[in-house]
Amino acid sequence: MNVPLLDLKAQYHTIKAEVLSVMEAVCDEQGFVLGPRVAEFEKATAQYVGSRHAIGCASGSDALLLSLMAFGVKAGDEVITVPFTFFATAGAISRLGAKPVFVDIRRDTFNIDPGQIERAITPRTKAVIPVHLFGQCADMPAINEIAKRHKLRVIEDACQAIGAAQQGRQAGVLGDVGCFSFFPTKNLGGFGDGGLLTTDDQTLADTLAMLRVHGSRVRYLHEAVGINSRLDALQAAVLHVKLQHLDRWTEGRRRNAERYLRLFAQANLLDRVTLPPTAPGNFHVYNQYTVRVPQRDELRNFLKEKGVGSEVYYPLPMHLQNCYQDLGHRKGSFPLSERAAEEVLSLPIYPELTEEQQAYVVQMIGEFYRRA
Ligand SMILES: *Cc1c(COP(=O)(O)O)cnc(C)c1O
Repeated sequence: MNVPLLDLKAQYHTIKAEVLSVMEAVCDEQGFVLGPRVAEFEKATAQYVGSRHAIGCASGSDALLLSLMAFGVKAGDEVITVPFTFFATAGAISRLGAKPVFVDIRRDTFNIDPGQIERAITPRTKAVIPVHLFGQCADMPAINEIAKRHKLRVIEDACQAIGAAQQGRQAGVLGDVGCFSFFPTKNLGGFGDGGLLTTDDQTLADTLAMLRVHGSRVRYLHEAVGINSRLDALQAAVLHVKLQHLDRWTEGRRRNAERYLRLFAQANLLDRVTLPPTAPGNFHVYNQYTVRVPQRDELRNFLKEKGVGSEVYYPLPMHLQNCYQDLGHRKGSFPLSERAAEEVLSLPIYPELTEEQQAYVVQMIGEFYRRA
């Protein structure tokens, strides 16, 4: 049997006619960058997330960069985030000449440990970027309380978390601004790069919209040095179609997560394989289904031989990356991030996955540990 980590073709088959029809419409219109298609998608996404405003941009990485720019983060400033994330979270901070200040994660949720934030704050700290890793929100009430006391901005890296919620409110409205990615492998993926910002603050929304077009509100008049980071009409049209299916796909992912729980329990594997827990009050959308396992790399190779796709998100924490050696961290600086990097393995969870395929994944993991 063959079980890929993600099967985008399976999803495309179910919406092919709808997608091709809007793509043809955009081609007939010959309007490609921003414009009414993007405005409609922004409106629909704001409504979906529950935010007053949504601003499309070129990628999730740019959404992070634009939000830091809008808050005036500059050389010499510090921004707090986690070492266990995709590179873009830390990279956006460094691109502005600011310093990423790392805080370790919690063992259970893989998200920032609010109890360690306060001691990382200095007079230069401007913002904190919690990452809703794998599709589950960080502990936002605790983070917001600390941020408010120290007058810090809160930027949600919700690039893996569209549709995720905490106490009934969605990722993207839990801080000052939410950053989303529509990279093809995300829960809501386009046919190329794309990103979006959400906020309730009208002034901030206007600033973000200005910064994404080279700092211009009136054409050829520039009030700030911005960047070129626009969402295009083809992406917006495709994403708008896919947004209508997102809740159904999320339910598919959540059903598959429940199946894994049942299958791993039946196979008596719960003492080997640590399944991803959901913190109280959280609605997990399983952008990734990430377990912790012993002998991770051997297991991954074995699964590959048996036709089962898996991936390590992420094998090297930010503080140990070559480009961050000047920050002066070493092995042992953030033990829970380092341990996660050694133990995590993401398994197939996409909505179209069948029960037979999942049973096969669990069976093969069982076979590996019986041999080992
Ligand atoms: C994907 C991702 C990003 C970056 O998004 P792009 O659209 O690929 O630039 C940022 N942060 C996290 C946590 C992500 O998973």
